[in-house]
Amino acid sequence: MNDAYISLSVTDAVHINTRTKAYAAMAAGEPLRPFEIERRPLGVNDVLIRIKYCGICHSDIHQVRNEWGGSTFPMVPGHEITGIVEKTGADVTRFRSGDHVGVGCMIDSCRECNPCLDGYEQYCERGPNFTYNSFEKDGKTPTYGGYSGTIVVDQEYVVRIPPSLPLDAAAPLLCAGITTYSPLKHWKVSPGKSVAVVGLGGLGHMAVRFAQAMGARVTVLSRSPKKIVDALRLGAEDYFSTADPATFQKLVRRFDLIINTVSAKLDLNQYLELLQLEGAMVLVGVPPEAPEINAATLIRQRRTLSGSHIGGIAETQEMLDFCGKHNIVSDIEVVDIGQVNAAYERVLLSDVRYRFVIDCQSLK
Ligand code: NAP
Ligand code: ZN
Ligand code: ZN
Repeated sequence: MNDAYISLSVTDAVHINTRTKAYAAMAAGEPLRPFEIERRPLGVNDVLIRIKYCGICHSDIHQVRNEWGGSTFPMVPGHEITGIVEKTGADVTRFRSGDHVGVGCMIDSCRECNPCLDGYEQYCERGPNFTYNSFEKDGKTPTYGGYSGTIVVDQEYVVRIPPSLPLDAAAPLLCAGITTYSPLKHWKVSPGKSVAVVGLGGLGHMAVRFAQAMGARVTVLSRSPKKIVDALRLGAEDYFSTADPATFQKLVRRFDLIINTVSAKLDLNQYLELLQLEGAMVLVGVPPEAPEINAATLIRQRRTLSGSHIGGIAETQEMLDFCGKHNIVSDIEVVDIGQVNAAYERVLLSDVRYRFVIDCQSLK
């Protein structure tokens, strides 16, 4: 492997080298290791991005370990990408070389179905083209994610990072950020609303920041008392340990909305009891095991149990602009690519405050 490919001539597209260094899992559950991939040639609507940072989402770990089924290998994970535009295709109007940009969980979608036309590309009826562990629009070329040096993405699926936000701490906004912002907006969180966030990890800590910025009264429900100081600093007014059974007595019918970010199976009925009349619990965490739901718990207070998947491209831009305005980023620990396997282990132990972000320049 050599690094010659990174010296691009802005005036001479012919010399673009589409190979880039990356880290990949070669089979389910294997440690990630150095790998080289080929990015597609720059199309007229494409943007070539020099990746600076990529967050480590728990979804990366679920997929590398094939916990949801259907994973394909080699897999280069990573869908919390920030970087700098290096080159643009002839018809690109939205970006110029040097722009600070981001790529989240999707790199394309059918663009024709009703959800796509309504800006809900994440709910594309044909399934979006995900950034990795998926296929390009031809349906056969594998997509590779952001644990790499460059990526080529259609301009319609690239978002702009406000210049006031640092690219490292902004990276997790591309998944953890939008995944929590979207349901808070959809369920109309505003002053006077009482919101609980279950699990204070990558998604959870962003949910606290956003709900607080939207004016809600925020409560964190975490397994132990360990994260209380952080939760209050992030904007929560209350904090309860779910290891204490009294928590579930004290908080009965307390909340309008519960955002459940937990990556493992929980007794959801216990949490549903904490919703007041017509309150909603939104699942964003995706545990591999199915939950058991007691219908009576829902019926008693006309409660809703729902789910929410990332957010559309326009909403992702809206979220980033909101972050620029309110100066919201993620709490991060930056790691070199060689530390990625150790970082995965620490995520699994909930030993992260609150998102690992890979410095992709360490791929060199
Ligand atoms: P994370 O940083 O690991 O946070 C998950 C949190 O869940 C942990 O910090 C921990 O919080 C809690 N938790 C973990 N194991 C638990 C257990 N056995 N029992 C109770 N609580 C437990 O993960 P993340 O990156 O935020 O992702 C969370 C989940 O969301 C994952 O399943 C991921 O795949 C999913 N996700 C979904 C979407 C979507 O579009 N819906 C997008 C991104 C990610 P405490 O220590 O505070 O208890
Ligand atoms: Zn994610
Ligand atoms: Zn579609």
